[in-house]
Amino acid sequence: MAPPDVESRVAPPLVNCAQCGGMLPQGLGEIECVLCGAMCRVTHQPTIIALMGEKVQCPHCMTVVEAGTDKRPVDLSCESCSGIFTLTRKIVKVEVQCPSCEANLRIRPRPGKRELTCPGCQKPFFVTF
Ligand SMILES: [Zn+2]
Ligand SMILES: [Zn+2]
Ligand SMILES: [Zn+2]
Repeated sequence: MAPPDVESRVAPPLVNCAQCGGMLPQGLGEIECVLCGAMCRVTHQPTIIALMGEKVQCPHCMTVVEAGTDKRPVDLSCESCSGIFTLTRKIVKVEVQCPSCEANLRIRPRPGKRELTCPGCQKPFFVTF
């Protein structure tokens, strides 16, 4: 049986590629730009500290467990009930505005250009990160 997931509340900042300016996949360490293939080193000390010290509730017994690591996803085991659960990455969402009706959409940013369809006015438009 797969351990239950708990979503982290801490996310690395969205960073742009030093070479082409496109958005890098979210993460820390050596990150490869999916647009131009450049390797970029992403470090963000406040995020690392926040990830290490993040406290989450054990989904089995509700005891507060400290992550103690900046890895996500990571399997944690609860000291009080020995239950195991997975602390997953936080899903970052950004707001984009439909150019036709100005409705705000909350989407998961992905590097590059993609087409979205506005749920309000059904008109397609492109976003680039
Ligand atoms: Zn790049
Ligand atoms: Zn527990
Ligand atoms: Zn619209």
